[in-house]
Amino acid sequence: MIYDLIIVGAGVFGLSTAYHASQHSSFSSILVIDKYDIPSPISAANDFNKIIRMEYTDETYVDLIIEAIEEYWDNQNQPIFNQCYNKCGRITVVPPIDNPRYGFELDCLKLLQSKKYNKLHGAEKLYTDISINGKFSNIFTMANSNINASENNNRPSDAKFRFNSDCGLGYAAKSLENVYNYLLKHKQDKVAFHLNDGIDEVQSVVNNNEAFVEVRTEKHEKFVGKKVVICCGANTGSVIPKKYMGNEIRATGLYVGHIKLTDEEFQKYRKMPIVFDSTLGYFFPPDSETKILKICACASSTFDDKSECYLPKYGQNYQHKLPSSSIKDIKTILLKYLPDLAYKKIIDGKICWISDTSDSDFIIDELLEQGISNCFVCCGDSGHAYKFLPNIGKYVTQRITGELNEMLVKKWGFKSSNVLGGNQETSLYQTIDVNWPSVLEWRVEQNNIAIDNLDWVNL
Ligand SMILES: Cc1cc2nc3c(=O)[nH]c(=O)nc-3n(C[C@H](O)[C@H](O)[C@H](O)COP(=O)(O)OP(=O)(O)OC[C@H]3O[C@@H](n4cnc5c(N)ncnc54)[C@H](O)[C@@H]3O)c2cc1C
Repeated sequence: MIYDLIIVGAGVFGLSTAYHASQHSSFSSILVIDKYDIPSPISAANDFNKIIRMEYTDETYVDLIIEAIEEYWDNQNQPIFNQCYNKCGRITVVPPIDNPRYGFELDCLKLLQSKKYNKLHGAEKLYTDISINGKFSNIFTMANSNINASENNNRPSDAKFRFNSDCGLGYAAKSLENVYNYLLKHKQDKVAFHLNDGIDEVQSVVNNNEAFVEVRTEKHEKFVGKKVVICCGANTGSVIPKKYMGNEIRATGLYVGHIKLTDEEFQKYRKMPIVFDSTLGYFFPPDSETKILKICACASSTFDDKSECYLPKYGQNYQHKLPSSSIKDIKTILLKYLPDLAYKKIIDGKICWISDTSDSDFIIDELLEQGISNCFVCCGDSGHAYKFLPNIGKYVTQRITGELNEMLVKKWGFKSSNVLGGNQETSLYQTIDVNWPSVLEWRVEQNNIAIDNLDWVNL
């Protein structure tokens, strides 16, 4: 059988693409392949929750997120997404004016409040108190001086607080399951799944002068599609060799920890907003089923230097462990914001891998230059793609069918200076800086240490 479309990877990009492609007349037969069950243990979105924010300085992503929120997340007629959305609001801890992130905060707000968008007027005000003038005084019961106490972790001591009630969270793993279940139930005539078998090779095949794409799995199966799209997130490099992708993408590992609350603690914090401290990390309201509260220590990240940052490093060696510096960061976050929970044991700490690009634009492009036609790659989420689960697949589908507007084709295309070209074997890695992703205005990792040089602690 030759499928109209094969989607490799059923994370955010892959499932969203399956959802939208199944509504497009060009695709009557779609095969979705994943190395694992859905939600995959290696999907960057396999966790309790993710932030859904509108704040961007780039109009493309503002347009995209407003569409995602208004048409899907916050729309009761879209239960797949709406049931996974909690409009809990977000407190941003705004650093002082001399911090690089300060400009980003200001520019985002300016853009959202511009004539074009006319959004977020409620988020204009800066407060000196994390209780936001008493709004959250039953939740943040510690003295404000606790937060503004200076210490030796570079965190500014005179931060202010902005509350944005238009921001929310997505129940991340559950939303992937919802899209999957919807496709199983309502699109079974068009969409089939082949799970628990990864793809390790993609190649062009020609049949009766027509070019198809063949994908080969680890269990030695072969599938042929008229079009193929590779949506393997941080693991894209396991399917597409570096010689094809050059310096377009890097796999970056981020750190996450969880704590489990008692019933009493859960009652106290269940209506909490997300708190985002750009220099330290962020945390979410506890999950209502498990009473688990998730904390991301975003001051640090990691990479695998053996693969020249190209591949993630999964495996037992890094499970239920965190680097000692991230444990310290998580404890600092708790002590500052939720001191009554600082005694808690961190459970289920993990590295979560994302696919970075140098400018945080996604890559949604065809591998034509690399000599494989009809094969597209969709990666480079740069740690901010979850919020677009409901709608990014619409644009991927348009790119595959040739309907995507020129501006977006270019924006999400390969940046040619980063690509090596199919026949070149030399690595350009030497020319890139180890701190390559951290030049982004909104990414705040101050420490980027190779995975094998970290001081790991069992949890
Ligand atoms: C700690 C952390 C916090 C984040 N916070 C936010 C946030 O607050 N808001 C936000 O919008 N985004 C956030 N993100 C980013 C978001 O999770 C990612 O952008 C998104 O998951 C990327 O989607 P993807 O489809 O590219 O990859 P993934 O979701 O990682 O999916 C990749 C899929 O490909 C499959 N796969 C991999 N290799 C193969 C193979 N060889 N063959 C077959 N299948 C394969 C995997 O099993 C997986 O299902 C965060 C990410 C992390 C790590």
